[in-house]
Amino acid sequence: MKRWEKNVRKVVPYTPGEQPNQPDMIKLNTNENPYPPAPETAEVFEFFDADQLRLYPDPTSGTLVRAIAQYYGLKEEQVFAGVGSDDVIAMSFMTFFNSEKPILFPDITYSFYDVWADMLRIPYERPALDECFHICKEDYCKENGGIIFPNPNAPTGVEMPLADIEWILVHNPDVIVMVDEAYVDFGAQSALPLIEKYDNLLVIQTFSKSRSLAGSRIGFACGNPELIRFLNDVKYSFNSYTMDRVTLAVGTAAIRNRDYFLETCSKIIKTREWTKAELRKLGFQFEDSRANFIFAAHKTCPAKTLFEALRERHIYVRYFAKERIDNHLRITIGTQQEMEKLIEVLKELLALEENECNQ
Ligand code: PMP
Repeated sequence: MKRWEKNVRKVVPYTPGEQPNQPDMIKLNTNENPYPPAPETAEVFEFFDADQLRLYPDPTSGTLVRAIAQYYGLKEEQVFAGVGSDDVIAMSFMTFFNSEKPILFPDITYSFYDVWADMLRIPYERPALDECFHICKEDYCKENGGIIFPNPNAPTGVEMPLADIEWILVHNPDVIVMVDEAYVDFGAQSALPLIEKYDNLLVIQTFSKSRSLAGSRIGFACGNPELIRFLNDVKYSFNSYTMDRVTLAVGTAAIRNRDYFLETCSKIIKTREWTKAELRKLGFQFEDSRANFIFAAHKTCPAKTLFEALRERHIYVRYFAKERIDNHLRITIGTQQEMEKLIEVLKELLALEENECNQ
């Protein structure tokens, strides 16, 4: 060990899903949207004046924050914007999780939470999901330094009823409760209306999934103005210009087109329901998903075998070699055509497997 090494902040980083780049691939591994962003976003690139890049962007991300506030019927002071919800959540951990007591999040959930907690030296506990991958609200009724969970949860897709979220809020008035709504637009109920009633609730959303802008990096948090002020204080103590000029313009254009957003979300929901029925016919089992993915296990064929066989055919899904979930595949919902192809290939693979078992 080098003499200076004792002062290094050593961390085990988060591993993002792979980003392969083959022309014929079907990419169902990182929960991206298969449809392009709202057409107005392309106009931003067409008309953007590169000379503007000499100047720093607006540190308040004002136009975007106002557009988000307007879309959700909130005040500007209730919205914070950042570089993807990863940035917003990391900033929120830093701002609000400063207790000696452990923060709480489920054992099976977004695998970035423990990475941020470790990096920021925040103690944490991970109450186990029940057998059916549901969050048990009672587990969040003990002393803690804060709470975070996604709704719907990732990678399970399971939605927690709003009444249970409110129950958790009622039992935790002394800490900040964060609801990570990365996937809420695909048919789950948002906790946004509760921010008027609970001043310790922070609702976090992203443009990466339902607004087809994973490549732009836009996320936001909504909460009472005091929470947003605290978040901004930390942001300005870290990096004032988090969002660049092009991204601010793209995000603003995207959120103004409500009809396009609703239309693409409903196409994905329809394809998801079709895919659920087809997967069931093939012998897959899963809890009901309200997200743009399905977390499924096959009743006989191991997930890892299917993951690798699909990969060989350039169909990418996500596999987690982790306790409790290492026999599941997380399958993002692509276009209807992509999902039909997936089902066709799965049929072939399962027939091959069955033949091998019978020999
Ligand atoms: N929360 C959850 C539950 C996620 O799955 C993701 C996507 N990996 C994020 C937050 C972060 O998304 P982004 O930074 O693209 O907004």
